[in-house]
Amino acid sequence: MLNPRTHTDKYPESYYAATVAYQLALPSLQGTVTTEICVIGAGFSGINTALELAERGYKVSVLEAYKVGWGASGRNGGQLIRGIGHGTDQFRNEIGEQGVSAIDQMGLEAVEVVKARIAKYQINCDLVMGYCDLAHKPRHLQAFRDDKAWLDSIGYGYETRLLDKADMHEVVGSDNYIGGLIDMGSGHVHPLNLNLGEAQGALDNGVSIYEHSAVIDIEYGAQIVVKTAHGQITCDRLIICGNAYVAGLNETLESQVLPAGSYVIATEPLSDDLAKRVLPQNMAVCDQRVALDYYRLSADNRLLFGGLCNYSGRDPRSIEATLKPHMDLVFPYLKDVKIEFQWGGMIGIGANRMPQIGRLKENVYFAQAYSGHGINATHMAAKVIAEHISGETDRMEIFERIRHMRFPGGRKLRSPLLAAGMLYHRAKDLF
Ligand SMILES: Cc1cc2nc3c(=O)[nH]c(=O)nc-3n(C[C@H](O)[C@H](O)[C@H](O)COP(=O)(O)OP(=O)(O)OC[C@H]3O[C@@H](n4cnc5c(N)ncnc54)[C@H](O)[C@@H]3O)c2cc1C
Repeated sequence: MLNPRTHTDKYPESYYAATVAYQLALPSLQGTVTTEICVIGAGFSGINTALELAERGYKVSVLEAYKVGWGASGRNGGQLIRGIGHGTDQFRNEIGEQGVSAIDQMGLEAVEVVKARIAKYQINCDLVMGYCDLAHKPRHLQAFRDDKAWLDSIGYGYETRLLDKADMHEVVGSDNYIGGLIDMGSGHVHPLNLNLGEAQGALDNGVSIYEHSAVIDIEYGAQIVVKTAHGQITCDRLIICGNAYVAGLNETLESQVLPAGSYVIATEPLSDDLAKRVLPQNMAVCDQRVALDYYRLSADNRLLFGGLCNYSGRDPRSIEATLKPHMDLVFPYLKDVKIEFQWGGMIGIGANRMPQIGRLKENVYFAQAYSGHGINATHMAAKVIAEHISGETDRMEIFERIRHMRFPGGRKLRSPLLAAGMLYHRAKDLF
């Protein structure tokens, strides 16, 4: 059950919804349609899978319960950060050295896929390159040193630089951090406009997209029948991209992904001087805690400040009242700045923090559980699924070799169990 405080059948009243650059007039599904491939979900995963397949000549239809980008894709922090999964080393036993290395490389390729898509379809989504990881603790700095050493060893093509506490004001106007790692190969975007621009690209390639067409039943078989309230699509292949909103579609997928609420506030536009004080190089930044702060400037100089991580299934009564104190801790001098937008969405968390990409059956694919780090990984998931269907590569099989735990407890108990686990990790962050 979605919380009406952040989820209705419209876009949330976010900064993104207030600044959409694309008006797509899309129908809902009525009657019977036959196609080669049906995709469920019109976030980054679904739209990009459809687009990749259409570019390869397949006939594709997309079914979306609400609107393109209604889910996490149109609500997120907009941070386009390299990497897939959290700590690929832990999967060495399952996928071997080559598998780990392939996923690490895909974590870099993914950003290039996004950039190429923006360039090819001339998507108006405020792409800015430049990102900095922020450290609160010495162990964060050690992780940055290791990361930089790895990037140097593979000849990463972008500038990276370690920062000491004394350097931090080059990047962020706050005294809260003890160091950082700049990465000019990551950056930030207006995610809803990216999603909508990609949907326009998919339409231009012949994809049919149906909004307000929630899938209510799936009949599996050699021919799959996907049913909505007013129509059905018969297809040879199905790809399920519901992510944190997948509940009710498929029990296996649902049990492997936990929805966690994350929230963003947007200030009024800051003066140029103030914006330069807050984020002097207009980079996106993230700290390294479990319930992390992530923030960046919008194209019109607002500070978009994201954070909190809510596993209880209940949204805060006031997002501003809950999140603004976190922002004030980082930037005390923004205390009197007005908050003009506040919204939230659901992140899909997997137990091992590796995106789940693969097949439920020979002709039923899925991609989900990016654990808060999905803008680039969704684009890679879309690409490897399309490559698999077209027989170009078997890169998807690397992901299929990774086992994913089901969260115990059924729909009602899963979130409280995880909430307890996260409290433990948050306490470890504090002490
Ligand atoms: C507040 C917030 C901040 C975040 N910040 C970042 C960030 O800065 N950087 C980053 O990389 N990642 C971030 N993420 C994560 C990122 O947004 C997601 O990983 C990514 O958007 C997932 O895309 P998706 O297409 O798989 O899922 P979604 O975008 O959630 O799309 C799933 C879609 O499936 C549809 N659907 C579900 N069930 C059905 C059904 N039965 N019938 C039809 N349609 C259905 C839904 O309506 C929805 O539109 C953030 C997420 C949130 C919520």
